[in-house]
Amino acid sequence: MKIIFLGAPGAGKGTQAERLSQDLSIPTISTGAIIRQAIQGQTPLGQQAAAYTKTGALVPDEVMIGIIQERLAQPDCAGGYILDGFPRTIEQAEALERLGIKLDAVIEIQADDEFIVARLAGRRVCPVCGATYHMTNRPPKDGVHCDCGGELIIRADDAPETVRNRLAVYHQQTEPLIDYYRHHGRFISVDGTQQVETAHRQILAALRK
Ligand code: AMP
Repeated sequence: MKIIFLGAPGAGKGTQAERLSQDLSIPTISTGAIIRQAIQGQTPLGQQAAAYTKTGALVPDEVMIGIIQERLAQPDCAGGYILDGFPRTIEQAEALERLGIKLDAVIEIQADDEFIVARLAGRRVCPVCGATYHMTNRPPKDGVHCDCGGELIIRADDAPETVRNRLAVYHQQTEPLIDYYRHHGRFISVDGTQQVETAHRQILAALRK
């Protein structure tokens, strides 16, 4: 299975992708996570990407296409994968086609801007294991630390003014992909403001059809 998740930042793509990845036993490839790791490790890619992510802008297409091409060539992707955060532009979607990748499903997670701003204000991430929490909706077991023991932090790009910019970038550059994929094979649209479990069940049911 090769599946793409589309939706605004904070709509719940990552959470749903992780759940589905466990059910289908295929990896989730999150380009955002790859970029954050590179920035943390101060690799040449990280140094190049930091200036873009800091303001909520997209990293240039040619850089992202190179990253995804390299990642999808790894052995763990041989049996399929879920893409979370790629493609984010029409140019990136066309690059996937040029690579000959045939998608089994494109899943859109919907949520409006006000809901997202509120949700991202409560989001915390663990820099040790990468887990994501929401302080109200999905708190860690002890209410403070990651379940792995790590110190939870607010993602730099979850600051409210950066979130607004990321949403503007989403509407301008990524939203056109919804029309692009609506006419390409299996397109599934799910409400991202409902309970994680409910949205997850709807995705599974739509995939089984
Ligand atoms: P995310 O965690 O998916 O919200 O990604 C965090 C940041 O990484 C984004 O705001 C972009 O700066 C960058 N990024 C992730 N995926 C892509 C992509 N496919 N194209 C361009 N930039 C990306």
